[in-house]
Amino acid sequence: MKFSLYLGKYKGIKVFIHWTFSILLLWIIIANTRSGMAMEDTGWTLLFILSIFFCVILHEFGHALTAQKYGIQTKDIILLPIGGLARLEKLPEDPKQELNVALAGPLVNVVIFIILSVFVYFNGVDMELIEEEPHLDGSTLLLYLASANIFLAVFNMLPAFPMDGGRVLRALLSIRMSRVKATQIAGSIGQFLAIAFVFIGLFYNPILVLIGIFIFLGAQAEVNHTTQTSMLKGYQVSDALMKRFPLLAYDASLKKAIEKLLDSQATHFVVVKDDQPVGTLSRDEIIKGLSESGEDTPVEKVANMDPMKLEIYMPLEEAFKKMSVENKKVALVFEENLFLGILDQENISEFIMVKHAVAK
Ligand SMILES: [Zn+2]
Repeated sequence: MKFSLYLGKYKGIKVFIHWTFSILLLWIIIANTRSGMAMEDTGWTLLFILSIFFCVILHEFGHALTAQKYGIQTKDIILLPIGGLARLEKLPEDPKQELNVALAGPLVNVVIFIILSVFVYFNGVDMELIEEEPHLDGSTLLLYLASANIFLAVFNMLPAFPMDGGRVLRALLSIRMSRVKATQIAGSIGQFLAIAFVFIGLFYNPILVLIGIFIFLGAQAEVNHTTQTSMLKGYQVSDALMKRFPLLAYDASLKKAIEKLLDSQATHFVVVKDDQPVGTLSRDEIIKGLSESGEDTPVEKVANMDPMKLEIYMPLEEAFKKMSVENKKVALVFEENLFLGILDQENISEFIMVKHAVAK
């Protein structure tokens, strides 16, 4: 991922931290300094925040390692200021597996909570003193970290997408109904909860408003994604294949590409060499090439010369996933070695819309 710092890897899963994370740390330092807090206390606050995020990484590994047990790989784990994200290659569709993968994360926080609580208990923290005068330092850090973990577990178990609890709810519902229906119900509960958060947040805490918006959008995305992919079931690449598309020679100039672009409605060109397709060129790549190196630049300099190749009989759902994971807008389609046409993400979306309209 762009603009992320690589932290290390475990069992083949790389962990990254997003650059926006530094804003969070900086914000804490500035806010603490402005409120006249001592340097030492700011240090403890930073250590506390970093410890919480270390627990968040462990939480994500709970998901990732459980998924690995079911043969699902995780691309990476990325740490954002709002939490962690384990990017699984796909989600298990078997409800029982999805349930276990979803539960594993919060379970990690419960385990950390128990371990820390036992440790704090035997080291005799003076609870009365903390209640009288709450303060964060070496003597209370673990206690606060324990509470933070129980908060993380509870928050993540809210029965709403995109939280783990939303997945748990969907998995439980999917035992009795279709996955799409289950997703819609879990999504609606998520959005209802999100609106409640925003409403309460407006009166009490602006951070709740942000969390509410985040939940609302996450729930929406999950519902859309599941409905879309389920609509592709039973279709093949051949069903959404585009047979008409403009061609461009690999050594043609960008000027030529623009002429053709203005002439057609296409957003993608197929780049050919010796009658063989060797690449794809998008409208964005043309514009980028123009601004960087001018209109005499040959097409092959700016085109994607390592295009994704798909088989015509591949399930459409699989092709769609592959394209989204690798972030390719367009792919070349073949039958054996015969080039047949292209598959365009936009085209798949249109295909879904048509199917959706017919189904209504
Ligand atoms: Zn989680």
